[in-house]
Amino acid sequence: MAELGESPLAAGDRNCSVAEARAAIAQALRPLDRTETVELTVALGRVLGADLVSPIDVPAHDNSAMDGYAFASADLRLDAPTRLRSAGTLLAGAPHAVAVGPGGCLRIMTGAVMPAGLDTVVPHELCRVDGDAVTIEPGAIRAGENRRRRGEDLKLGLPALRAGTLLRPAELGLIASLGIDRVSVFGRLRVALFSTGDELRTLGQPLDPGCIYDSNRHTLGAALRRLGFEVVDLGLVADDPAALQSTLEQAVVQADVVLTSGGVSMGDADHVRAVLARLGEVAFWKVAMRPGRPFAFGPLRAAGRSAWLFALPGNPVAALVTFYALAREALLRLAGADPRPLPMLQARCASAIRKRPGRTEFQRAIVEAAADGGWHVRLTGSQGAGVLRSMSEANALVVLRHEQGSVAAGDPVDVLLFDGLV
Ligand code: AMP
Ligand code: MG
Repeated sequence: MAELGESPLAAGDRNCSVAEARAAIAQALRPLDRTETVELTVALGRVLGADLVSPIDVPAHDNSAMDGYAFASADLRLDAPTRLRSAGTLLAGAPHAVAVGPGGCLRIMTGAVMPAGLDTVVPHELCRVDGDAVTIEPGAIRAGENRRRRGEDLKLGLPALRAGTLLRPAELGLIASLGIDRVSVFGRLRVALFSTGDELRTLGQPLDPGCIYDSNRHTLGAALRRLGFEVVDLGLVADDPAALQSTLEQAVVQADVVLTSGGVSMGDADHVRAVLARLGEVAFWKVAMRPGRPFAFGPLRAAGRSAWLFALPGNPVAALVTFYALAREALLRLAGADPRPLPMLQARCASAIRKRPGRTEFQRAIVEAAADGGWHVRLTGSQGAGVLRSMSEANALVVLRHEQGSVAAGDPVDVLLFDGLV
C-alpha cells in the first residue's frame, strides 16, 4: 500500500466538497500489485493486469465484407458497364486455388479470403448476373470497396488491450479473436464489510424493541459484488471500542479495504476516533453533500498488514449514495481499473427543487423518455436519508452540483443512471 507522506489526507477533521474528497482519495491510492492468470471463460468483470499484445493479425487475411463478386479494380470501368466473367465460387473458410485472369471474377461469400490480385467486391444486389456473366453499372462501386484488410481490427505485435481495461463482453470476444484462452488479471479486490450499531440485528434474529434489521450490509455487499470485488462479511459490531478494534484488526489482516457503515456521525465519533487513532491515520470529513456528510477515510495497520478504511454513514440511503459518490471509483482504481467518469444525462426536472449553493445533493428520481425526444426526470417520494424505498423505486439520482442553487420546474438537471454504476 502506498504511504501517504505529504498527502492532504493527514488525520484530523476537515470540511470539503465531494470533488475535493474524491480528488484526495484518488491521489492517495495506488492499484493493487497482485495479478493472477485466469481462464477467459471466468474473466468477465475482471481487470486486465498487463497489456495484451496481439500474437496475430485479425483478420489474418484480406477477406470479403459482403456476399457478391470479387474482381480486380483494374477492370472497373467508370464510363461504361463493367463486364466480368465468373470463374467459380469462394466460401468462407475454404481455401481456393482458382486463378483469375483479366476480366475475370469470383463469386465470394462474406469472410472468404480475397484471392490474390482481386481487391474489390461488388455486392450481389449491385450487379446483374446472367449465367457466368456479371455486369456492373458505372458508379455502382468504387475500387477497393468491401474488402476487409488483414490486421484492420488488431495488428500483430501491437497492444490489443491495455492493462487496467475492464473485461466486458466485447473485450472477452476480442481476446478470443486472438486465440488467447487465459489472461493476466489483477487480483480481486478483497473488501471486509461490517455494520456498526447496538440497535442492529442480523437477519434471522428476533427484532428486539428499539432495534432494526441491518440492511446496509446487504446493500453495500451487493454493490461490491456487482463491481466484481470479493466481500469478507464480518457481520455486526456493537458500539463498543474493544469490539470495534478487534473487528478492524481482523479486517485489516483479511482484506485490502475495510468498508463500514454507521458510527461516524457526531454522536458516535468519539469512541470510533480513539480506536481508529490507534490503528492508523484516518481523516474524518464533513463532506458537503446530502445525503451523506460524515465520512472517514485513511490507512489502517494491524499485524504487519495494511488496508484502506472507508467509513460510511449509517443511514441506509446515505450509505449507498456515499458509496457511489466517494468509494466506488476509488475501489475500482485500487482494483487496477482505469475508471472513466460516469456518463451524466441532462433531463428536464418535473418539479422545482430547493437547494442552496455549497453542497452537492443527490436526489432519488425516475428518468423517462419524454414525448419531445429528450429525457424527463421526477423525484421519488420522501428524500429522507433513511427511506430506502425511494431509492428502490428510483432508476437514477439527480445530481445538483456544489455551486448550483434552486432548480425551477422544467429546468435541465444532471442525472446519474443507476445502470451505469455497476
Ligand atoms: P449512525 O451513522 O450510526 O449514527 O446511524 C444513522 C442511522 O442509520 C441510525 O438511524 C441507524 O439506526 C441507521 N443505521 C445504521 N447502520 C445501519 C444498518 N446497517 N442498517 C440499517 N440502518 C442502519
Ligand atoms: Mg450508529
